[in-house]
Amino acid sequence: MTCSRTLAIDFETANERRDSPCAVGLAWIEGGRVVRRESRLIRPAEMRFAPGNIRVHGIRPRDVAGAPSFPEIAGSLVLAHNASFDVGVLAATLQAYGLPQPAYTSLCTVQLARRHWPGEGGQGQGSYRLSSLAARVGVTFRHHDAGEDAYACAEIALAVMREAGAPDIASLARRLGLARERAGEGVRAPDGIAARALRGVAPSRTRAPLLHFVVRGSTGTPYDVRLVEGRGGPRLRCSCAGARFRPDCRHVRALANGEIDALLSDNPGDVAALAELLRVG
Ligand SMILES: [Zn+2]
Repeated sequence: MTCSRTLAIDFETANERRDSPCAVGLAWIEGGRVVRRESRLIRPAEMRFAPGNIRVHGIRPRDVAGAPSFPEIAGSLVLAHNASFDVGVLAATLQAYGLPQPAYTSLCTVQLARRHWPGEGGQGQGSYRLSSLAARVGVTFRHHDAGEDAYACAEIALAVMREAGAPDIASLARRLGLARERAGEGVRAPDGIAARALRGVAPSRTRAPLLHFVVRGSTGTPYDVRLVEGRGGPRLRCSCAGARFRPDCRHVRALANGEIDALLSDNPGDVAALAELLRVG
């Protein structure tokens, strides 16, 4: 595979499950340097945050309400520190979201560092930790912030590339035999409406809502409005009391009309997408 681009990736997860990412950090490499950094919150399919995970990354459920989807990585060279973890999260998440598994190449920067700086003393694993290697190559970063971790991972790979005199990271990985090609797999054939919703945003498992909004009721109470698959196509379901008696409560009507005045979740773009989703359905 020829890699069209190189990016470092780092996930933080909400709990022990690998399909529970709540943040992804990305650092794109071009021309031998990091040209773009990005950190995104992700709303995990299951909103269960383990206290131990929160202690590590500090991300709480309220932080990811209405958070968006997932970066496009097909055809890329994806760097990660302990790639088996991040690649595992990626695969589990794409599956949970009903998205196809893309073909890409991965490179683990732990393996890269081990190969390039072998026998880092008798300190065992310690000296190949992200923080140790970042210090070694002179990068300061905030550990366990996904964006910062991805950036540190990218800079470590670039440092090895420069020391090894390689023209780019892809050829370095090939030269060392460390690049792992990940074959893509077919789509789980989501139906048309789900596919459209997933392209726009992203939740989730088949029975989970396609889109999720939080709106402020007239007395200030927040309500959840979810786009769900109904028999006659997608429809909005609201958590307010009024919705028990009539399906199109005022919150549903407002969102369906594209009104975002009462929107508390940070996804006005999804409201714009709603009109099309509901019309097509
Ligand atoms: Zn309502």
